[in-house]
Amino acid sequence: KAEHPLPTTTRVIAVVNQKGGVGKTTSAVNIAAALVRAGARALVLDLDPQGNASTALGIPHHADTTSTYDVLVEEIPLADAVQQSTDSEGLQAAPSTIHLAGADLELAPLDRREFRLRTALQQYLDAQDEPVHYVFIDCPPSLGLLTINAFAAATEVLLPIQCEYYALEGVTQLLDTIERIKAHVNPALALSTVLLTMYDGRTLLSRQVVDEVRTHFGDVALQTIIPRTVRISEAPGFGQTVLAYDPNSPGALAYREAAAEIAQRGAP
Ligand code: ADP
Ligand code: MG
Repeated sequence: KAEHPLPTTTRVIAVVNQKGGVGKTTSAVNIAAALVRAGARALVLDLDPQGNASTALGIPHHADTTSTYDVLVEEIPLADAVQQSTDSEGLQAAPSTIHLAGADLELAPLDRREFRLRTALQQYLDAQDEPVHYVFIDCPPSLGLLTINAFAAATEVLLPIQCEYYALEGVTQLLDTIERIKAHVNPALALSTVLLTMYDGRTLLSRQVVDEVRTHFGDVALQTIIPRTVRISEAPGFGQTVLAYDPNSPGALAYREAAAEIAQRGAP
């Protein structure tokens, strides 16, 4: 009864852009929620100390919550941090807490510091009775050790790009980082998906960014573009994805289309 083909092995998708406010979290939670509504099972890992993905999925993330911090730094099993999202059955998430803000420094001296998430996720997935089709890792706005852990654990990268000034700023550094990760940490990693976000069709600038990104990335950029809408920005204030908050809104439809494209294309 799945609407899209389901992957036979788990697709682990790191949602990365070292710029803040470009739509990483919004895209991670809404694409995951859309895939689950289409019949997949998905897990979101919140690696941003801000905890915005946890909030949008209705997952408590006060300081005492068992979180991705405990998984990365204390080697607590990921299963102990995973909670059921209020968004939909089949969507689970491991929250972050504010402790994660110090994790880059705490991880630095540790053994196999780049591979801690990968090891924890592998153990978690191996122990599941039912398949997890998608894992989305919501990364912080930096290329530090948290994001490196996401790159090491992932099979692919989703890069959201905001239709704004300096849209491609930092992209060269990000692509260089991915190349270094492939050479030294995770040869299987691929930039599979670029997603244009916060598109405003009334502005020349938005249209120029779309052209520029499509020239630069070709088919890696999804055909679907996420519009800038008030409903998308309101939803997290209610602890919801836009798919729960206003399922027939243009923003929800756009995220459903983006999810469908990702599912149809399959793993890189
Ligand atoms: P990041 O995770 O990259 O920092 P977010 O996903 O948190 O970015 O988005 C930044 C802000 O923009 C948030 O307040 C979010 O609600 C808002 N936002 C994201 N996408 C849209 C959109 N398509 N339309 C309107 N607001 C959006
Ligand atoms: Mg974010």
